[in-house]
Amino acid sequence: MSSSSISVLFARGARRVTGSNFLIEAKNGDRTTRLLIDCGLTQGERYCESVNREKFSYDPATVDAVFFTHAHEDHIGLFPKLVKDGFKGNAYATAPTKALMPIMLEDSLNIIAEEAKRCGDDAPYNTEDIRAATGLVSETDYHKKIELNSDVSVTLYNAGHIIGSASVAIDVFEKRILFTGDLGRSPAILVPERETPKGVDYLFMESVYGDRVHESIEESTRILLTAVDDVRRKKGVLLIPAFSLERTQIILAALDKAISSGRLPPIDVFLDSPLAAKVTEIYERYPEFLRSDVRARMKRGDDPFSFATLTITRDMEGSRAVEKSSEPKIIIAGAGMSHGGRIRFHEARYLPEKTTTLLISGYQVPGSLGRRLKDGARTVSIDGASVQVRADVKALDGFSAHADRNDLMSYVEAVAPKKVFVILGETTSAASIAQRIQGFLDIPVDVPREGERLELF
Ligand SMILES: [Zn+2]
Repeated sequence: MSSSSISVLFARGARRVTGSNFLIEAKNGDRTTRLLIDCGLTQGERYCESVNREKFSYDPATVDAVFFTHAHEDHIGLFPKLVKDGFKGNAYATAPTKALMPIMLEDSLNIIAEEAKRCGDDAPYNTEDIRAATGLVSETDYHKKIELNSDVSVTLYNAGHIIGSASVAIDVFEKRILFTGDLGRSPAILVPERETPKGVDYLFMESVYGDRVHESIEESTRILLTAVDDVRRKKGVLLIPAFSLERTQIILAALDKAISSGRLPPIDVFLDSPLAAKVTEIYERYPEFLRSDVRARMKRGDDPFSFATLTITRDMEGSRAVEKSSEPKIIIAGAGMSHGGRIRFHEARYLPEKTTTLLISGYQVPGSLGRRLKDGARTVSIDGASVQVRADVKALDGFSAHADRNDLMSYVEAVAPKKVFVILGETTSAASIAQRIQGFLDIPVDVPREGERLELF
């Protein structure tokens, strides 16, 4: 009788979009290998929910290795705490993910510290913890097999979500386990098409948009350009809260294209986000992780993320100058769900104006300011002040870096696993895609809960 077994602990990120954190334990006689997929921040009403301050549900000191799927905060944001709480193993990420981690974590710590002060508690880690954590990360390439020991090896595949994003395949005891991380649309806008690894037994798949079909990129571009035309006519402000990593670059590229084709007359655009500026530099440093057409443009010296009327502000002074500049204008700023950062300042200033259009361009976690605005709130609280919303609020989802329901279904069909575990989605979304997979593809599906531990075999 074989004494080998594998279990998965859904520590966080089950029936929830954020907080990605899964522990795989492979036992072979006396030897146990423990590896983690992601160590992300749980987000909700707060950018950093109080659950992030609690102890991990496993002992970080016993974890051998961590693999990061990509550099979004809800996938990396608790790694400094993992190290602070005793993790001493190896960590692996693609080159862009490794380069982005310190930038993302430091910016995030600013928002966390600002929020913690407001709420009277502590940040779960500090700058030194970030330094110690990012120092443990080794760079690895797609398709390069990492042998942890004779039982377990790991290979990363392009997930097509954002620059450097990866799905993680674990080969263990002649079985193959695949964690998708966040999966991209097909086709993706800036990064090469996601891969569909073969020979998978157990698939752990994200489900952010498991119950929705995105509008096309063309339709989103039309909504964006109509919103620009509207504020030009109203002599107002188009406010776009945007995730600094990928979404901002997608919006800049769409504006650049519309201006250079003559569809959009020039208009002042302010990217009020030092983080987005740093992230864009990483895109320019790793063109081999971008789509070939984007790469070709860059090679010709045509920066897809920049145009003549774009101003990037890097400090508070620049940020104040944005307010003083004349209208019409477009302001793009983070954080993407309006939890913190410069966008809150602009929302407090411009949402009461009828000439403002607020354009929401992505997933908004329940409870967040962004979600309340998207759901049509006419009064919101921003940093203790009550703000009347007289602005026109619009939303688009075609610039999403996430697979939609149809993308997820075709992905499962192509990977053809023996079983699917649906993770990283709100309950309704996860349950909806689970039902479809079972019904249309006849593959057994489970929708695990947070804290659940399952024996795979
Ligand atoms: Zn992501």
